[in-house]
Amino acid sequence: MTFPVVGMVGGGQLARMTHEAGIPLGIRFKLLSETPQESAAQVVSEVVIGDHRDLETLRAFARGCDVITFDHEHVPIEHLRALEADGIPVRPGPDALVHAQDKGVMRARLDALGVPCPRHRIVADPADVVRFAAEGAAERAAEAGGQDDGFPVILKTVRGGYDGKGVWVVHNAREAAEPFRAGVPVLAEEKVDFVRELAANVVRSPHGQAVAYPVVESRQVDGVCDTVIAPAPELPEARALAAEEMALRIAKELGVVGHLAVELFETRDGRILVNELAMRPHNSGHWTQDGAITSQFANHVRAVLDLPLGDPRPRAKWTVMANVLGGDYPDMYSAYLHCMARDPQLKIHMYGKDVKPGRKVGHVNTYGDDLGDVLERARHAAGYLRGTITE
Ligand code: ADP
Repeated sequence: MTFPVVGMVGGGQLARMTHEAGIPLGIRFKLLSETPQESAAQVVSEVVIGDHRDLETLRAFARGCDVITFDHEHVPIEHLRALEADGIPVRPGPDALVHAQDKGVMRARLDALGVPCPRHRIVADPADVVRFAAEGAAERAAEAGGQDDGFPVILKTVRGGYDGKGVWVVHNAREAAEPFRAGVPVLAEEKVDFVRELAANVVRSPHGQAVAYPVVESRQVDGVCDTVIAPAPELPEARALAAEEMALRIAKELGVVGHLAVELFETRDGRILVNELAMRPHNSGHWTQDGAITSQFANHVRAVLDLPLGDPRPRAKWTVMANVLGGDYPDMYSAYLHCMARDPQLKIHMYGKDVKPGRKVGHVNTYGDDLGDVLERARHAAGYLRGTITE
């Protein structure tokens, strides 16, 4: 029996950390990366440089791999079907992955499953956005009285967005013109008055085994995830369980294999709505590297190989993950001395990326019994590494 080869498409930090999780298991790892400089390409020994949108490149890469999985959701669905037809297991498969690629397909499927989502529909042009807004205003007037024009409205291109790119908050027909310029279908959504964002992370294997991590709170700054708190503070147990069950159900119904992140809004009146789905390890699960018995990366590797899944339970009462964004100081290593000396529980995860202002270059995890203290330590370290905190 030889050890299997996991082929990962995409050379970002998720591939880097998935590779890391496979090392203790002796799993061989092969990477398809766009450039040799990418985060995972720096550390994986078997790297193919090529374009994931080219079928022949994918086919050549897949030869010799026991399974193909992903660091991102940008491989064309028809190429994944071709690989499957060649006999290569693709996990998650194209029928599942299409829901993470296309927000229109995702919304339609979740509607059919009766999963609560923000009010939404595909809109044809700015005039249609005005109609969508008016429909919302009419619904509100019927429920609660009052009168407004229904704006602001959220517009999203159905494909190609990430970290808030591809998402617009528009206040009138004039502003609604911009999202249509890309020539990609546009989804309109009500602007949810949420109290916070949560994420329900689950992992499912081809066998049908599934595990759920505790639901976390995810705080965004300027559309980018800033901090994740595990578990989500003061989330009533029944609501947390309902969110976990919903994520497990989505994973099962969509046939997801591997890690599924279900990004959620918690509304003022205690409802949970689905924002979007990601079928790969996810930023809201980075805390599991140091805060859970089995990390999301280790469980993703197990799932795509159809091995029994590991225990998702937390190791500490509270774990906080804080993203490290690039700042004005390119030399983050010189900050390690202070950060490590200040907090021996701190775990630093750097991605090997050049430091550019606002770019996610790493994250830190820390944990403990007192949430205020854990949050302070995580934020301090992330700020110190970035250079926004100097003592
Ligand atoms: P991306 O694909 O860039 O991650 P998302 O759909 O997750 O895009 O949206 C990015 C952010 O925009 C969300 O994290 C949330 O803060 C905000 N957002 C998205 N949809 C809505 C909505 N319907 N109502 C209110 N805020 C939203």
